Amino acid sequence: MDLMLLLGLIAMGGTFYAMRFWDKRHANPDWLRLPNRAEYLDAHPDCATGDELGARCCACGSDKVVGHPQTGWPDHRYRHTCLACGKVLFRTQEPR
Ligand SMILES: [Zn+2]
Repeated sequence: MDLMLLLGLIAMGGTFYAMRFWDKRHANPDWLRLPNRAEYLDAHPDCATGDELGARCCACGSDKVVGHPQTGWPDHRYRHTCLACGKVLFRTQEPR
């Protein structure tokens, strides 16, 4: 019985490790390649809006920019995408 419990814990640990590894290897670098909001606005000063957390799309000028989590499971990393043209614009992290 104790052995089963131990094996169960090892399997769970392995799963968590694999998820973290996958995240580091695939999801995070992809997300880190995006500029953060300050860098995005530095590169495209005309995209600034009155909205503290928003910005305009640098490709088509639309202000319909929405943020959604980087991965499916609860994630504090958001990527902001233009709804009009589909361009991925910048990243934010909430809460920081
Ligand atoms: Zn756009």
